[in-house]
Amino acid sequence: VTTTLEILDGLIAFPSVSTASNMALIGFVSEFLAQRGIESRLIPNEAGDKASLIATIGPSVEGGVLLSGHTDVVPIEGQVWTSNPFRLTARGDRLFGRGAADMKGFLAATLNAAGRAAARTLRKPLHLAFSYDEEIGCVGVRPMLEILSRSLPKPRLCIVGEPTLMKVAIGHKGKIAAKAECLGVEGHSALAPKALNALHLATDFIQLLRRRQAEIAAAGARDDAYDIPYTTLHAGRMSGGVALNIVPAQAEILFEIRHMPGDETLIDTLRRDASAIAEGYRDVFSGAAVDITIINAYPGLETDRATEALAFMERLIDAGRPTKVAFGTEAGLFQSALGVPTVVCGPGAMEQGHRPDEFIAAVELDRCDRMLDVLLDELAG
Ligand SMILES: [Zn+2]
Repeated sequence: VTTTLEILDGLIAFPSVSTASNMALIGFVSEFLAQRGIESRLIPNEAGDKASLIATIGPSVEGGVLLSGHTDVVPIEGQVWTSNPFRLTARGDRLFGRGAADMKGFLAATLNAAGRAAARTLRKPLHLAFSYDEEIGCVGVRPMLEILSRSLPKPRLCIVGEPTLMKVAIGHKGKIAAKAECLGVEGHSALAPKALNALHLATDFIQLLRRRQAEIAAAGARDDAYDIPYTTLHAGRMSGGVALNIVPAQAEILFEIRHMPGDETLIDTLRRDASAIAEGYRDVFSGAAVDITIINAYPGLETDRATEALAFMERLIDAGRPTKVAFGTEAGLFQSALGVPTVVCGPGAMEQGHRPDEFIAAVELDRCDRMLDVLLDELAG
């Protein structure tokens, strides 16, 4: 009998960092499934160096449950690890390795459950959906969802197994990552007032982000289930200028919005704000511009507390009250693409994710195994 621990050991050994190919890991997964009589389908990217994987165990009917996770992990560069990050290493109750918590622990438990599922007769199907490039903006899940939304008999529930210490999370904020490109007019620094300094446009824009943030904090939508109970704005990088004696013509700000449901439209407000800033300079400098481009975005998750799917989750695991999480996941994309109630629930703690000496407690894997055991009983009916 293969254990979840053994599968995790295999998965951790693939350095499936988002910058690298995940094909070796996907090959391992599809081989694991094939050995248990489970057919899987790969959905490769255009370059053919990455793929997501979908599989169904049991009959092709509605009312199943979909388990989802991402196969990529964040890099280890600049981190000091006590043991090899790509070799699962046990110390006490803790299992160390890159991705142990985020989120190969859940993938291992899911594969193990798929193997058990294949050995019994299910009345309702178990679906697997493994993505790539989650860590760089939920990239790989999108073509997979396009296919699933057309071909998958509608499940009753999706579980995205990001680490929640096996609590049931029914909400997280959405994210919009964007850049503001500021265009001024170049000139000699000795004649600075005759030019338009792009850094001035950039700092005007930052001022504006801060003003909007203050307004939202004072009077915006609130949800006390979150650490920061409102939509946040953040500028993470500002660049511009070439040399001290040149008035810079170009500057750029990378910023993000972590939004509550409904606050997606804030990006349009910022766009209008940005053109108003540029407009203020245009009578003198006709080329002045502050242009906003969205780099990446994913929707928030907001699962209806009254949904039957939550009552179903309660039968699977005694997790206490549903919570909301600070980090983003693919769950909002699943919910909107498939129209299926979606929760985030998986083993391990996100506090360990993305850090050196990332680990998962062995007991967390056991708890996930037990939850999936109950799930299989439910699906077997
Ligand atoms: Zn993750």
